[in-house]
Order: sequence, then structure tokens, then C-alpha cells
Amino acid sequence: MIQVVHEITKVREIVEQWRQDGYTVGLVPTMGFLHAGHKSLIDRAVSDNDRVVVSVFVNPIQFGPNEDLARYPRDLEADTRLCQDSGAHLIFNPAPEEMYADGFCSFVDMIGPTSELCGKSRPGHFRGVCTVVNKLFNIVRPDRAYFGQKDAQQLAVIHRMVTDLNIPVEIVPCPIIRENDGLALSSRNTYLSTEERQAALVLSKAIRLGQQLVADGQRNAHKVVEVMKRYIEAEPLAKIDYVEAVDFRSIQKIDTIRHEVLFAMAVYIGKTRLIDNFIVNIDE
Ligand code: AMP
Repeated sequence: MIQVVHEITKVREIVEQWRQDGYTVGLVPTMGFLHAGHKSLIDRAVSDNDRVVVSVFVNPIQFGPNEDLARYPRDLEADTRLCQDSGAHLIFNPAPEEMYADGFCSFVDMIGPTSELCGKSRPGHFRGVCTVVNKLFNIVRPDRAYFGQKDAQQLAVIHRMVTDLNIPVEIVPCPIIRENDGLALSSRNTYLSTEERQAALVLSKAIRLGQQLVADGQRNAHKVVEVMKRYIEAEPLAKIDYVEAVDFRSIQKIDTIRHEVLFAMAVYIGKTRLIDNFIVNIDE
């Protein structure tokens, strides 16, 4: 039976015992309302490690004042079933006050890879992400931690943080899981009306368009971005936050497509902000 634990000291105790028993530990950090995208990370963690912790925590400090913290979807019962069925061993579900006790004032911040894309449109977001992931690493001390390429900038930021701060954990990237029609799975998809759900397909369709241009030999990043933008702008319910091409490691803008390039977008469908991306690796 999977354990659901709310206290930091209790998680520490359990994981410490596992370590003494010689087990390897995988961590899958999530904000809950789990879907097949999260499940793919948990499945991978279960196959790589003896014991798997899934954290379910809607982290208040990574949300801006006008974002969806209060209405972010939650369903711990369904999450517990999904984790149990996937073979995870422990859910860590702390209350915000457990993670951010009175007087909390230490943060992990980053310059560089957080200056573009979501870092630009969500000031303070990555400070919140880096801080909570650091705390989770210190609480669980996992051998490996699993992150989806769905949040590609987050993945690059976590890689950088682990390298820069010498955190002894292996970061395992996992591919984007999509619905049959192409929409990338996201807990926020539940916000979409039927009409918006249909309109949301512009993101994955724009991605396929961009991928095709690169496959056909286009190496001018601006031209690819321009075509993707024009395609999205033709959808009346869509409003672009950004569509950009950046170097995948540094998350800095590029002109020419070479090495690992991340094409990333954030698009409002009605009031719902969705993100999607693709990465190309051109060595010629
Ligand atoms: P979240 O609960 O949205 O914070 O996501 C938790 C983890 O699941 C992050 O590492 C995400 O990148 C990953 N994730 C979310 N959606 C997907 C998806 N559709 N495919 C793969 N990974 C995903």
C-alpha cells in the first residue's frame, strides 16, 4: 500500500530507512492532478529505482499574484490511486505552511537561463521553482529526479542548478506525452471549454509545422518562428504570449539553427495559458 505523508520529518525517516536498506530512490516532483504525462515520469522512475517518491505540492511561491494558484485543480485521492497503480511507494503532500514556515526568507535564484521565455512573462516563477526543487532534493535526497520536457525551460534550469550548486542527483529528462490529436497533456487543460479545447490544437499543429520546416532544411530560426506565429494568430481564440527559438542549454535567443535548439511557445487560449515546445538537434 502506498503511503501518503504530509510531514517533512516523516518522509526523512522513511527515506533514511530505505537508504540504510540499500535501496535507490527516485523522486518525481509534481503539482498533482496527475495525468498520463506525470504517469510516464513515475513509470520511468519505478523502472529505474527501488523506491519512488512522488511529491504533490502546488507550490505557492512559483505563482504570480494574478495567476491561477487558488483555482489550480487538486484531487489527492485520484493522484494516490494513479501513484499506487504505477508502483510508486510514497506520496509527499506537504501543506504550504510545512514547506514555508513562519519567517521563511531563503530562496534559490538564477540569472541567465531564466531571463527569457517563461522567465520573462512570469517574473519570480523560476525562483519559486528552484527554491522548492532544492527543498525537495534536501528533504528526499533522491539518487535520480524526473522532469518532463513539456516544461523544457524548467528542465534546462534544473540541470543548470544541479551543476552549479553541486547537488548529487541525476536529472532524468522525459519526453512530452500528448493526446491522440496532439494536445500536450497538462493539468490546466481542464480549464478549457469544448470550443477552447479544439482551438488549443493550434499549439501542437504549429509545432508540427515548425518541425517540418527544420526537417526540410530551414536553418533561419526567425523564419521558422514567423511561420509558427502566423499560424497561431489565425486562430481567433488564441493569443500569443511568446514563440521563440533559443539554445536549449543556455536558453538564450539564437539566429541560426544548430546544435540543440528549443522552439518554445506560451499561448493563451481564452484565459488559459498553455505551453508547448519541440527540440531539434542539428549537427552538420
Ligand atoms: P506539473 O505537475 O505540471 O508541475 O508537472 C510535473 C512534472 O510532470 C514536470 O516535470 C512536467 O514537465 C511533467 N509533465 C507535465 N505534463 C507532461 C506531459 N504532457 N508530458 C511529459 N511530462 C509532463
